[in-house]
Amino acid sequence: MPPKELNPTEKKIFEAIEKNDIPLLRTLLTEAKDVNIFDENLMTPLQHAAYKGNKEVVQLLLDQGADPNICEHEHSYTALHFGGLSGNVDVCNLLLLAGAKSTSVNTVGRTAAQMAGFVGNHSCVIVINNFIPKKDVEYYSIIQGQQTKPYLPPFLCEGFHKFISTVNIHPVRLALNIQGIPGLLDHMDEIKNVLEMMCKKQMKGRESNEVMAMKFHYLGFMVDSLSKIRKNRKEDDDKKFDVIELFSKKILKPGKDNYLDFMDGFIREAVREFPFTDCTLFRQIVTSLAGKDPPPALNVLTAAINGHRGFVDNISVCHTCGEEKPSKKCSKCKAIQYCDRNCQRLDWFVHKKACARLSQGINEIETKPDATDISNEIQNLLINN
Ligand SMILES: [Zn+2]
Ligand SMILES: [Zn+2]
Repeated sequence: MPPKELNPTEKKIFEAIEKNDIPLLRTLLTEAKDVNIFDENLMTPLQHAAYKGNKEVVQLLLDQGADPNICEHEHSYTALHFGGLSGNVDVCNLLLLAGAKSTSVNTVGRTAAQMAGFVGNHSCVIVINNFIPKKDVEYYSIIQGQQTKPYLPPFLCEGFHKFISTVNIHPVRLALNIQGIPGLLDHMDEIKNVLEMMCKKQMKGRESNEVMAMKFHYLGFMVDSLSKIRKNRKEDDDKKFDVIELFSKKILKPGKDNYLDFMDGFIREAVREFPFTDCTLFRQIVTSLAGKDPPPALNVLTAAINGHRGFVDNISVCHTCGEEKPSKKCSKCKAIQYCDRNCQRLDWFVHKKACARLSQGINEIETKPDATDISNEIQNLLINN
């Protein structure tokens, strides 16, 4: 089908996207009748924006009603294929949230995740493969049959969905996410219950998904652990008690030879409690963990859930929570990176000693006053990368 002649406004929309001119695009979109239009290559504005990897433009177009599943392109690339090729994970996530189908294939039979993997954009592969449609969560917020209340309080849907969509499964990152998403900390029992049901659902039927079943089980184990810590302490009526801080410090406390024994044990126990012990993924994980000199359990589980990433050299991670490409670093030693002050604060009891040693190479060690308040002590110890 030859594309219909574009009017001047429509032509300018494509030009504005090409130049990443957001203010101009915003104006043009208020004038345009429809954003689901095609250029001479039968590509939509959304497909162009996705290919350029510009998340603001993608969001703007989606807000205006751009359909992520329209596909007239001669090689049947969808907006998600282009997003995967761009390497921008936020773009992929926005498209998926807007209903982009991850199963659509192009003319050579490849999905968006496969194309992203083909060009080495492994973060996009992970985001696409970990995506959970919102309706899968909303299902649990609707009263079923004889129930008097749903499994999941409806106001938690959004936050819970965000929590289970997390790619980084480091226990401290998950704990911080539970703390950071309103409502989760107060409904841990319901959340654990829903995750258990979601895990079982993934293993039912012909299209079972062992990876997602393992992920949901692990997240449920995590939430349950926090819930137990909190219940045990509640009886003591300790008002200052912070479950996330206590848990994180346990996880981060180094054992013999600086090995994170507690974290390793925590993850091994989560795996041991996985209810489907016959499945291939479970056996693979157990085999890796049982070998001589096994890698850290977190690495084994991350590889099982997110896939092996091939060669990713020099990728920096937060020393506390494993988040990739953190934006800050310790200003004293400049050797250790963090997401933010909160991550630095949680890790300070460990990093404190190493910091003095590491900074010797850079500066003379400054003598600093004996501070009793840790937050004061590290106040000026965080700078941008
Ligand atoms: Zn962090
Ligand atoms: Zn330092």
